[in-house]
Amino acid sequence: MKPVLDELIGRYRPVTEGSLAAYIPELARANPADFAIAVATTDGEVHEAGDSVREFTLQSLSKPFVYGLTLEDHGRERLRAQVGVEPTGDAFNSIIELERHSHRPYNPMINSGAIAVTSLLKGDTAGGKFERILELFARYVGKPVRVDEQVFASERATGHRNRAIAHLLRNFGVLGEEGVGIDEALDLYFRQCSILTNTRDLALMGATLANGGVQPLTRERAIAREYVRDLLSLMFSCGMYDAAGEWAYTVGLPAKSGVSGGILAVVPGRMGIAVYSPLLDSRGHSVRGTAVCRELSERFRLHAFEA
Ligand code: GLN
Repeated sequence: MKPVLDELIGRYRPVTEGSLAAYIPELARANPADFAIAVATTDGEVHEAGDSVREFTLQSLSKPFVYGLTLEDHGRERLRAQVGVEPTGDAFNSIIELERHSHRPYNPMINSGAIAVTSLLKGDTAGGKFERILELFARYVGKPVRVDEQVFASERATGHRNRAIAHLLRNFGVLGEEGVGIDEALDLYFRQCSILTNTRDLALMGATLANGGVQPLTRERAIAREYVRDLLSLMFSCGMYDAAGEWAYTVGLPAKSGVSGGILAVVPGRMGIAVYSPLLDSRGHSVRGTAVCRELSERFRLHAFEA
């Protein structure tokens, strides 16, 4: 596997299309040349190529995992009453997308749904809720995680669009538990987006999902087994936003991206595949990351519906 990953790094390194996510000013400081691929299997083998320990923030890669935590808090029915499971065909940061009658966000992978989900987390204080998020990611990664405070401050100061989305959710009474304020919900959401990871750790998070929720190296359970399929099916239908259909068609794997440049794809029962390269296409997905996932899927016949 390692020679294949090295080969892909060599082949796609010359691709320099795309742009950094400058709408969060701190993310524009990323090095556009950075490029890494990691594959972690359910039996705990990790194959890496490129700058696989270079750190980057989770951004939207955090969404399915936090959704899993709120599923454990509230169960499927309660959560579905607040946040739907339908793809939108629209951008991740769309403001107008709420379901017509219920005013629920369409799904937990777009910002409106993710902000609503985070606002539903159980905990007595905002600090306590965030501790739960940190512990969650520590279980998936197998070691403690931390926040990039600069990225957090940067998005908090400039995230007017997400602020507008939170106000809209509040207006329709679908922002979280009774008493959760807009600022608290947004701060929690911006913080979860600012958690640092690297390509190797991201692949292990994927391998944990592929392994039914048990981290392959520590053998610790990160999420109740019954909810793993909820995360994976939403990643499959909605994880890549307005490119979800094309991704399902060409790559055929549940996946999630983040505007910092990470992409995670999961092959259930087998492995997590992570790619990092911060140059993004117009929908906010890593250009090289998309190309690498496509090629790995083709080459190893990983498409979910491969005959
Ligand atoms: N924090 C980012 C935002 O809310 C996450 C978006 C993403 O990674 N697609 O805009």
